Amino acid sequence: MTKKEFKAESKRLLDLMVNSIYTHKEIFLRELISNSSDAIDKMYYRALTDENITFNKDDYYIKITADKENRTLTVLDTGIGMTKEELEENLGVIAQSGSFAFKKENELKDGFDIIGQFGVGFYSAFMVADSVTVVTKALGGNEGYKWESTGADGYTIESYEKEEVGTEIILKLKENTEDENYDEFLEEYRLKSIIKKYSDFIRYPIKMDITTSKLKEGSEDECEDVVEEQIVNSMIPMWRKNKSELTKEDYENFYAEKHYGFDKPLKHIHISADGAVRYNAILFIPEKMPYDFYTTEYEKGLELYSSGVLIMNKCADLVPDYFSFVKGMVDSEDLSLNISREMLQHDRQLKVIAKRMKEKIKGELQSLLKNDREKYEAFYENFGRQLKYGVYSDFGQNKETLKDLLMFYSSKEKKMTTLEEYVDRMKEDQKYIYYASGDSIEKINKMPQTELLAEEGYEILYFTDDVDEFAIRMLMNYKEKEFKSVSSGDLGIEEKDKEEEKEEENQDTKEVFAFMKESLSDKIKDVRPSKRLKNHPVCLATDGEVTMEMEKILSAMPNNQGIRAERVLEINVNHDVFNALKDAFENDKEKLKVYTNVLYNQALLIEGVAIEDPVEFTNNICKLMQ
Ligand code: ADP
Repeated sequence: MTKKEFKAESKRLLDLMVNSIYTHKEIFLRELISNSSDAIDKMYYRALTDENITFNKDDYYIKITADKENRTLTVLDTGIGMTKEELEENLGVIAQSGSFAFKKENELKDGFDIIGQFGVGFYSAFMVADSVTVVTKALGGNEGYKWESTGADGYTIESYEKEEVGTEIILKLKENTEDENYDEFLEEYRLKSIIKKYSDFIRYPIKMDITTSKLKEGSEDECEDVVEEQIVNSMIPMWRKNKSELTKEDYENFYAEKHYGFDKPLKHIHISADGAVRYNAILFIPEKMPYDFYTTEYEKGLELYSSGVLIMNKCADLVPDYFSFVKGMVDSEDLSLNISREMLQHDRQLKVIAKRMKEKIKGELQSLLKNDREKYEAFYENFGRQLKYGVYSDFGQNKETLKDLLMFYSSKEKKMTTLEEYVDRMKEDQKYIYYASGDSIEKINKMPQTELLAEEGYEILYFTDDVDEFAIRMLMNYKEKEFKSVSSGDLGIEEKDKEEEKEEENQDTKEVFAFMKESLSDKIKDVRPSKRLKNHPVCLATDGEVTMEMEKILSAMPNNQGIRAERVLEINVNHDVFNALKDAFENDKEKLKVYTNVLYNQALLIEGVAIEDPVEFTNNICKLMQ
């Protein structure tokens, strides 16, 4: 019997497999089971269409057998089998393999990746086996054949006595090495768990002989090992089931079984799409925030199946970053089983699926917001920040998708409110959506800058997350209403403007403020009479784009570029303090300098910003007390 050479590409591929340092070698079993399942599919189809073939449902199965003594692992199927020619074509020449021929037209052109595309098929057996034997008999064939190979040096084919139609793949496992344990692929529990993990939803039974310890017949304490044939996989994928057949508990069990989280799902989304790209998906929004969610450790992604076979644990391309909290799986029969990570990114079907799911998730969140406010608020409490990051990142390209999902605390409602609700409640003459930034609701409540707006009955949104102001800047406006910080120079409230202008026109006042500005020199841009203060004597406002809150956040960043807000010191001219300032201006300019320094530092303290020279500040206060 002569040994035949593999064709060049196959040989290269085999080399890669034999010497593979791939960490998930266990996937060879997934590949072999998947091939078996395909072969049974073909048989099934033939039996359906050819009345000369009688085949019972029970005749379709896959069986996995481990033989520890001989170090062999066998995958048997009752599929369609292979003729001698098919053996040659399919296992000898990779270029003839089914999926290769299918892929050829559409994918070979642009940068094609052989190991990613085809490497993980049948040849993956060589990651764990020194030699592979394929015994097969084709439907309608008279004889069986045996194909054998020890790797890249070639293969042999000879006639072989085989009764049943189907295929058996026998792997002679490699000897253990220092780094690799191949014995594990002979252990029942290990094999069972690999099958459960990757092939649970194969629609034919995957059988194994399982040894269990049982009480000996007639004995009360003596046990014996009994070998029983068991079906290891559950066979029916939950996602293929009809939604109406499934209960909330089913989804919760699925969530737990899949280890999506230790909590319960807040909401599940079950999609069965039958359009241009067919897929089923079960997605979850977790009830609790994963402990590492807002860290770099957290890895987003969904499980990706191709026709019931798991091909990737965390396919990141399926969910956008702003929905990274979504857990779950997608199964599509339109995806190639052997698609690589690199190829997936460019896969058109996958892109279509990702886009549809993104829309679906958004829609579900919107309907949750509308119909189950409490749940939505619970969701938002955990993941709202991620949505806001989403508005801000990627140069705001997702802001339209996300803006209606945003919520902020409202000064008026004393609870979370959406931008739409805010705009609907706006006063007739109100130009802006007002917001105040601070560490907490309590702190913002006390901000002097909110006094006027609050008194005039304007609603203020509270920004308590670092990202809020940045996200809103990216959004720019909502329903054509611009956002305005309560600390910004011009609040756009007209009557008040006029009233205060009178004071500004007053020559004396102008001189006092000019002197104060001079004494603070480059610390501030201006000193002005305040339009927004009611009871407080002083506060800081800002001109320009950067607010004090943004300055604080930016300066805490590692690549801090020293960006500063344009500070404006605002004085309440209706406050007694203002009289003291005027008095000092006329009688004691040195005293006015001390007053100015104290007021400026007070304004900084109110903002929660560290004062520049605490010693000078306290000395100044002492001076005033003496
Ligand atoms: P792929 O499955 O992507 O085509 P493989 O290298 O895994 O690539 O398999 C090559 C071909 O060998 C398959 O397309 C199939 O025609 C044939 N084959 C593999 N395993 C079996 C099997 N158990 N029964 C029948 N045919 C098989």
